[in-house]
Amino acid sequence: MAKPHVVVIPYPAQGHVIPILELAQRLVQQGIRVTFVNTEFNHKLVTSNWLDKDSFGGVMQMVPISDGLEPWEDRSDLCKLTLSIMQTMPHKLEELIETINKEESSKVSCVIADDCMAWAIQVAKKMGIGSAAFWPASVATLASIFSFQKLIDDGIINEKGIPLKDHTIQLSEAMPPIKSENLAWACFMDVATIEASFQLVKEAEEAYRLTEWFICNSTTDLEAAAFSMYSQLRPIGPLLASNRLADQAGHFWQEDPTCLTWLDQQQPCSVIYIAFGSFTIFDQTQFEELALGLELSNRPFLWVVRPGMTKETTTSYPDGYTERVGSRGRIVSWAPQQKVLAHPSVACFMSHCGWNSTLEGVTNGLPFLCWPYFADQFHNETYICDMWKTGLRMAKDDTGIITRGEIKSKLEELLSGETYKLKALDIKEKVTSSVIEGGCSHKNLSNFIEWVKER
Ligand code: UDP
Repeated sequence: MAKPHVVVIPYPAQGHVIPILELAQRLVQQGIRVTFVNTEFNHKLVTSNWLDKDSFGGVMQMVPISDGLEPWEDRSDLCKLTLSIMQTMPHKLEELIETINKEESSKVSCVIADDCMAWAIQVAKKMGIGSAAFWPASVATLASIFSFQKLIDDGIINEKGIPLKDHTIQLSEAMPPIKSENLAWACFMDVATIEASFQLVKEAEEAYRLTEWFICNSTTDLEAAAFSMYSQLRPIGPLLASNRLADQAGHFWQEDPTCLTWLDQQQPCSVIYIAFGSFTIFDQTQFEELALGLELSNRPFLWVVRPGMTKETTTSYPDGYTERVGSRGRIVSWAPQQKVLAHPSVACFMSHCGWNSTLEGVTNGLPFLCWPYFADQFHNETYICDMWKTGLRMAKDDTGIITRGEIKSKLEELLSGETYKLKALDIKEKVTSSVIEGGCSHKNLSNFIEWVKER
């Protein structure tokens, strides 16, 4: 009998590709055939950085389809990218599925799509194929997305998704408030991008009613109240790189593994790890202030400075910085983050609070110093600081800068005593028990895999 065959399609951003590829690997390990569809642009990045591509040979096929933009066009223009995706990708996906079904013995039985690519669920419906939606961020964020009609009715946003006034939204009594300006689709500077993102939001909500399965990279231990609002949402996370078929799978940048050797030389629980994910861009003044704050902290640090992380063409550090810091500070352009966070030398995580980074810090029992930049990151910060109490937020001064003094003092507060560490270990225990045999996320994932196999 032919293997069940699923097409998996992520939203084309680093924080979306990594977790859904993790899910795809779990399917492959269970004997399911997977065709993983990246945009052409990301396919090039992913395959050029993949160190041991061959280990996927034969079991998972990586297939590119066009996002409709030319190779040289700017994909950080999210309005343009979103509109182009919605216009081009549905029929490209349909063509791909038709070709697979014509040429291969194992026909496509199911499409698993990132819920930000909910149009793919519509394609599956149209073609009479099963479908499942995957949500890679927090369920609290998803709950705010699903509440868009109520937000319109209450006069908090207009029909195009734009917040009408500063408002604090409380989705349920047991959930922390969200500021209307921090709604995931409303954080962009220009109206056109908000409107395009709001289009995705509406389609994402529709998919909730259309799909057979709606699985989320989270756990009830982290956000019980949000899950209780929508009974059809199934926690299957955190999906972490436990049994990877290939190292570095899905990464857009080449990891620098030498930082692990550097970590081996540090004292246990001494290093500050600083990383702001794949999107964050710093203003030069703030970047230098962060550099000086790390210097002032007098602690060893491992800092990820991605190419293009500042608005300047080349990243520049304060005068004489690297000489002064010497071997106490290690700067890399992309780290094997999950391995770094699991290293015994790491004491805390200074993070932009992207959902993947949040889960990765939580599952390694690390306290956080939160530095959110946009979208759902502010809401994740609220969970870390106010709900789980495993981290601290930083305050900006009158000029809108987080100063070196603030960085030093919050690091001292976070790392003096055991308060945050003990809380972090407690949450780690709960969360990790949900993904082992008998845990809630583990059961849901097993049931989901069975459903995929039976299709
Ligand atoms: N990441 C990594 N190396 C780095 C920085 C980030 O492997 O140096 C990974 C990180 O482990 C996470 C992802 O990139 O899985 C970033 O996702 P997240 O949701 O935290 O942030 P985003 O990039 O979406 O803002």
